[in-house]
Amino acid sequence: ETTINRIAAGEVIERPAAAVKELIENALDAGAKRVEVILAGGGIERIEIIDDGHGIPAEELPLAIERHATSKLQDEALVQISTLGFRGEALPSIGAAAKLTLISRPAGQDSAWRIDVAGGAISPARPVPGTKGTRAIAEDLFYATPARRKFLRAPRAEAEAAERTVWRLALSAPHVAFRLVSDERVLFDLPVQDDLARIAALFGREAANAMLPLEATRDDVRLSGLIGPASLNRATARLQSFVVNGRPVLDSMLKLSLRLAYRDVIPTGRFPVAALRLDLPDEALDVNVHPAKSELRFADQNGVRSLVIGAINRALAQPVS
Ligand code: ADP
Ligand code: MG
Repeated sequence: ETTINRIAAGEVIERPAAAVKELIENALDAGAKRVEVILAGGGIERIEIIDDGHGIPAEELPLAIERHATSKLQDEALVQISTLGFRGEALPSIGAAAKLTLISRPAGQDSAWRIDVAGGAISPARPVPGTKGTRAIAEDLFYATPARRKFLRAPRAEAEAAERTVWRLALSAPHVAFRLVSDERVLFDLPVQDDLARIAALFGREAANAMLPLEATRDDVRLSGLIGPASLNRATARLQSFVVNGRPVLDSMLKLSLRLAYRDVIPTGRFPVAALRLDLPDEALDVNVHPAKSELRFADQNGVRSLVIGAINRALAQPVS
């Protein structure tokens, strides 16, 4: 058994946003070209993720919700980086915390099959109507564990966190069409796009047009993306995104590097707008730092920090054309 597999369920799913993240990552891992996310009550009431990925064969449905069952690569180095999320932990954790339904139909299977888990109890799979791909529905998060439910914030705050998670994942995967509906409001509905068009759609065209392109490499590390000029800085850090090897991350070193790079051009209390992408060899990263895998550890922290700061400093110093 690997270290990853031994991490406790509760570590993974502590709020709706965590379930949303895991379910969308599964959809992306399944090669989906379109992902639809429908939230109700901040995801506490209901999370529904619909994808058009390769699906789960009927006979594998019960396995998918068993702990430590994964169809994904087992080589640890590859597992850490090349696929998203935790190995075989997410669905059982969600099934233990919520009422979970999976409806899935792989190409070439006559119909979709459905399986339900509630409080860890699995119902037998049965055929139902459905199109190719997978539909995962999590309802009544923490209904069986009031102690955990107490730690949730107000539905509005949970909704914002869940919406941010979808926003970040949509930004990281412009090659996938993304639609987000929260309490019946369509927050975005994006076609397959290139990186810049996706940034424009999610940051707003005005912001995106004002942003400065940036590109730099150092050893095997490649940095690219857009940063806001000093005039575009917002009072909040909402419009910041880091994508590392295709995965959205909330990394404190990267955030700090961004602030340091802007230190001289931004009045205190404001945050730089940025959409940055880092690509580096798998060995240069350790993603097992936190179960939610948003904090990273780079083998060469200082090298990455100076790459980011240097590239931003140069981009900001360029005369506006
Ligand atoms: P992991 O993603 O680490 O393998 P999960 O608990 O998230 O573990 O999922 C278990 C398994 O269920 C996956 O390995 C995959 O085979 C299958 N699965 C889950 N969600 C989907 C999906 N949306 N499309 C296709 N297969 C899926
Ligand atoms: Mg997963």
